[in-house]
Amino acid sequence: SSWFRNIEQAPKDPILGVTEAFLADQSPSKVNVGVGAYRDDNGKPVVLDCVREAEKRIAGSQFMEYLPMGGNVKMVEESLKLAYGENSEFIKDKRIAAVQALSGTGACRLFAAFQQRFHPNTQIYIPVPTWANHHNIWRDAGVPLKTFRYYYPESRGLDFAGLLEDIKNAPDGSFFLLHACAHNPTGVDPTEEQWREISSLIKSKGHFPFFDMAYQGFASGDLERDAKAISIFLEDDHLIGLAQSYAKNMGLYGQRVGCLSVLCEDEKQAVAVKSQLQLISRPMYSNPPLHGALIVSTVLGDPELKKLWLEEVKGMADRIIGMRTTLRENLEKRGSTLPWQHITNQIGMFCYSGMTPEQVDRLTSEFHIYLTRNGRISMAGINSGNVEYIADAIHQVTK
Ligand code: PLP
Repeated sequence: SSWFRNIEQAPKDPILGVTEAFLADQSPSKVNVGVGAYRDDNGKPVVLDCVREAEKRIAGSQFMEYLPMGGNVKMVEESLKLAYGENSEFIKDKRIAAVQALSGTGACRLFAAFQQRFHPNTQIYIPVPTWANHHNIWRDAGVPLKTFRYYYPESRGLDFAGLLEDIKNAPDGSFFLLHACAHNPTGVDPTEEQWREISSLIKSKGHFPFFDMAYQGFASGDLERDAKAISIFLEDDHLIGLAQSYAKNMGLYGQRVGCLSVLCEDEKQAVAVKSQLQLISRPMYSNPPLHGALIVSTVLGDPELKKLWLEEVKGMADRIIGMRTTLRENLEKRGSTLPWQHITNQIGMFCYSGMTPEQVDRLTSEFHIYLTRNGRISMAGINSGNVEYIADAIHQVTK
């Protein structure tokens, strides 16, 4: 009778809690720039045309069997090509252990469990700040967390010197979590030159780089360009881990489709690593879901649909990039004397505005604009219909 009496209510998720509050608000002018989900210029969620077409082709499919433990083989193959390159020698040499994962979160969690099992005495270094769930993922997998400096509030840019110092001071052979592109929540990415330095330092320290790539294509509109950091690390002969997600770039959020890969020294090692990843997933969820994986393999496996997808990804990225310019212009037009270049310098889904928690509270209470208290604005929630309203509100609370 007292089984659950001592259980206290868990704290609200900082991001999903924002959406709850937004939904409860009755104001017609309310805006949700909290959650990182793409909206079109009318503020509506989008199903990509390539996905609609793929669904038509899949409809009526006779296949509803279980996927193998490693997931949809075609989907995994195509995912590797996107990240490692179409003609990657690592793919040819079968050096990559890869499995379908439950979107980016699931890929991170699977890797964290793998790290915990095979390198139980290591830590994971995560950037400050980072996507809040990274903390939870590695914590729940039983891996101790450490942080490294990343963001420099004064410049609203990268703390490059601090980052290098922290990489240098970490014990040799540590695990480092890196956002491959479109860093969440800051929108601040290292330049190519900086990535090269980071790569070479991580190499000299014998650290293991794990990339979380939740936004390939979303940052610049160009999938190859957004995978540049990875290609730099590959050139430098690292072994890497990689989480890929189709939530944002294919709009498959709720389908939970992604990929975890680990680049190994040779094929034999890759076979062993893959078998162990499957051994971890088997008692957790047995095998991954089918439908989303079929959508991805259908889109990426057909040159026409893939071309359409690339255009649509670019369309989403361009709309966001355009909104950055418009938001900044509108703030400057209103006579805001604060510096707002970071709005257009930052990249990806988010703008780390630099607003204080108190200013954010005012945005919400006075203007019905919902976002996390760290001042992170989801650019995808901004459109030509609300950008002036938002600029005005930001100006009001920051002047
Ligand atoms: N990693 C980062 C940095 C993210 O921002 C997100 C989503 O917000 C994810 C991973 C995981 O998303 P999903 O599990 O929906 O693929």
